[in-house]
Amino acid sequence: MDATLRTSIIDLLLPWAESIPDSIAVRTPPGPDRVSLTQRRFLGEIGAARDRCRAAGLAPGDRTVLIAPSCPEFLIEFLGAHAAGLAVVAVNPLSTARELGYILEDSEALRLVAHPAMAEAGQIAADESGIGFETLSLVGDEGPSIALGDDGVADFDRVDFEWDALAALLYTSGTTGKPKGAMLSLGNFIATTDIVKEMTQTTPEDRNATGLPLFHVFGLADMALPALSAGAPLTLFPRWDPQAFVDTLAEDEVSIISGVPTMWMSVLTNATAVETPRLRLISSGGAAIAGEVIRKVESRFSAPVAEGYGLTETAGLGTFNPLFGTRKIGSVGLPTPGFEVKVIDVDGATLSAGEVGEVVLRGPAVMLGYWKKPEATAEVLDDEGWFRTGDLGKLDDDGYLFIVDRIKDLIIHGGYNVYPREVEEVLYEIPGVAQASVVGTPDEKYGQQVTAVIARTPGSDLDAAEVERVARENLAAYKIPRIIEFLDELPKGPSGKILKREIVRMYTQGT
Ligand code: ATP
Repeated sequence: MDATLRTSIIDLLLPWAESIPDSIAVRTPPGPDRVSLTQRRFLGEIGAARDRCRAAGLAPGDRTVLIAPSCPEFLIEFLGAHAAGLAVVAVNPLSTARELGYILEDSEALRLVAHPAMAEAGQIAADESGIGFETLSLVGDEGPSIALGDDGVADFDRVDFEWDALAALLYTSGTTGKPKGAMLSLGNFIATTDIVKEMTQTTPEDRNATGLPLFHVFGLADMALPALSAGAPLTLFPRWDPQAFVDTLAEDEVSIISGVPTMWMSVLTNATAVETPRLRLISSGGAAIAGEVIRKVESRFSAPVAEGYGLTETAGLGTFNPLFGTRKIGSVGLPTPGFEVKVIDVDGATLSAGEVGEVVLRGPAVMLGYWKKPEATAEVLDDEGWFRTGDLGKLDDDGYLFIVDRIKDLIIHGGYNVYPREVEEVLYEIPGVAQASVVGTPDEKYGQQVTAVIARTPGSDLDAAEVERVARENLAAYKIPRIIEFLDELPKGPSGKILKREIVRMYTQGT
C-alpha cells in the first residue's frame, strides 16, 4: 500500500451519518438504563471527544491512554482521539497500578482518560507519571449531534493519517519479560475493517452484539469497527453475563455475534435456550475451540460457528473459516483476504502440507513492530513482512490451517511431545466437563507432567477416575493426564481466554 496515502477511520463512518443518520450506531444492553446512539449522535459525540483532545493540548502523533470497559464511550473516545490525529493506548481495566505505570512510562503518553469506575486508579497513575488526566465523559439521552449540510454532507473536521502512521498501541501481556506494545497503523485498522466486512458480508440490516473487551484487538478491530463501518447497530456488553447476552440476541434480533470460546462454553452451561431466528454467524477466535463445543453451540443456536485465527500483532487477522464455502471443523480456515500463510521449520524452510511447524503470516494487518523494541520486532518480523506467530500448525492439501498448539504450551513428557490441545479435545467429550485446560507442570522424573484442570458443569459429580478412564481409552499412555484437578472456574485473562500460565503457576508452587 502507498505509504503516503492519507485517510482516517472516520471516513468509514461518515457515509452512515449521512445516509441513515437516525438509525442506531451503538448501544448498551436492553434495560432501563439503555443508551442508544444514532449515527448522527455518535459522530457528534466523537467530534466532542476530538475537541477535548485538542483542548488538552495534544497534537497529531501524540499518544493518549484509554481505560474503560466495553461501552459506547470507549468507541467515542477512541475515534475522537483518532479524529484529532492521536494514537490510542488501550489498556485493560484490570491492570494493576504497577502494570499501568509501566505502560504510561513505556508509551510516553501525554494524557490518560479513564472510565469513572477506574478514575481513582487512573488519576493516581497519571499524577505519578506527571501527565494529564480526564474522566471519560458518559453520554446520556441528550448531547451533541452531527449537522448535515443542505447537500446532505456531514460537516466533520478530522485529521488525516498517513497509511503507515501509528493509530494504536496494544500491549500484549507477554509470558516473558515486560509487556510489548504492538504498533497498529491506520492502514492495519482500515484493511482489517474492510476484510472482516467482506468475509462476514455485514450490511446495515445486520445487528451485532459482543461481550468482547474493546481494549483487545478482537473486540475493537475485528468486531466493533467492522460493524460500525457497515452501518450495523452494535450492542456492547460491559460485563460478561451469558443469560443477559442470549436474551439480547432475541430482543435486538441480533444476526452476528463474536466471542472467545470460554464465552460460548458459559452460554452452554449458564444460560437457558432462547429463540434467535435472525442469528446467522457466530464468530469465534482468540483461542482454540474444541470440536465438541462447536457442535453444541451450533445446535443451540442453529447458526454456524466460523472460527478465525489471529494475534494482536496481526490485528486479529490471519485465517478464517469461509462462511460461503467449505468450513472444516477443527481447522481455523483459509487465509483471510490479502493474507498469506506458511508453515516453516526451525531453520525457516517452508514445510509441505501435513507437516507441523511454526505458522508465519504476511498481510495488510501485520503490525508495524513493537514500540521501542527493535530487537523483539526483528525476532518476529522479517524484511519481507513475514510475521512469526509462535504457534505450531499444519496446512492441509486444500490450504486450510490447523493450529496444533502454541510452541510455548507444548508439554515434553519424558522426551515425548504432548500437544495440550489434543488432550483437551478428548476431555471436552466427557459429560460433565464445562471447561478444561491441560498444561505441563514440572516433574523430577519426566521433566514435565501432563496436568488437567477441569471445571465441572453444575450438578456434575465427575471425578478424576472417570476422566482418567476416558483419557486411557482415547490417548496414548504418555498423553494421559497424571494430575487431574477440579476448580469451580478456570483462571481467565482479560479477553476471557483461559490463562495457562496462571494454571502452571498454581500447580507449580512448592515444587
Ligand atoms: P498475551 O500476549 O496478552 O499474553 P495472547 O498471547 O493470548 O495474550 P493474543 O494476541 O490475544 O495474545 O492471542 C494470540 C494467540 O491466541 C495466538 O498466537 C494463538 O496461540 C491463539 N489463538 C487465537 N485464535 C486461535 C484459534 N482460533 N485457535 C487456536 N489458537 C488461537
